[in-house]
Amino acid sequence: MSGAGVISSPPAYTKRRQANVLKIDQCEFVGSFFQLDQLPRDRRPQVAFAGRSNVGKSTLLNRLVGRRNLAKVSNTPGKTRSLNFFVVNNRFYFVDLPGYGYARVSKSERAGWGKLIEGYLRGSEQLAGLVLLLDCRRELTDDDRRMLGRLAESRLPALVVVTKADKLNRDQLQRKLRRVENELNLPAIAFSSLSGIGKNELLAAIGELVAAKPQI
Ligand code: GDP
Repeated sequence: MSGAGVISSPPAYTKRRQANVLKIDQCEFVGSFFQLDQLPRDRRPQVAFAGRSNVGKSTLLNRLVGRRNLAKVSNTPGKTRSLNFFVVNNRFYFVDLPGYGYARVSKSERAGWGKLIEGYLRGSEQLAGLVLLLDCRRELTDDDRRMLGRLAESRLPALVVVTKADKLNRDQLQRKLRRVENELNLPAIAFSSLSGIGKNELLAAIGELVAAKPQI
């Protein structure tokens, strides 16, 4: 994988992940859901993606599945407050959660979709884990911590991804990864939708999340 040397996660972790890269053959948009009781109820595991607005979530999702506009399709204005479901390889779901922290949103609106996200993280039986995206040039926000807190309450695993890795030089990126890992006590993956750094590592980690989820 290009740029693997830049990633500062513990060696065992990186090696294990890259040995077993998940291959995405197929990904289809299923729907946008505004209420928890509308969500798909089948037994396929779900992997959710979260991050503040503009973190690069749509671009990352498109890059992971190798489709240019898949995530954008559902991200048209008015749909940004929904949980957007995609079925991958007909085997599991990617769930694109609303981006948070967008300044031009009213308090009540924010509270509404905060509830939707929190309800989902607390209550979804099929949730295998969360991919939390952090912009490499920004600090952690209270919203980011809140997401991880909810996840910990549900005892679910998190993958932390530092996005737009191409914006930092090698040393800056390593420092950022180390700081995030120390702050959160979780391994972090550097990702760039431009260069492709971190794609295989993230796919392998997602494959592990899905495989570890018991089908109930
Ligand atoms: P979202 O709001 O989290 O879905 O963010 P988008 O995917 O729409 O991306 C927000 C902005 O960041 C867009 O202008 C993207 O082109 C840019 N962007 C996304 N990923 C990357 C990346 O890996 N590198 C760089 N340099 N820019 C990126």
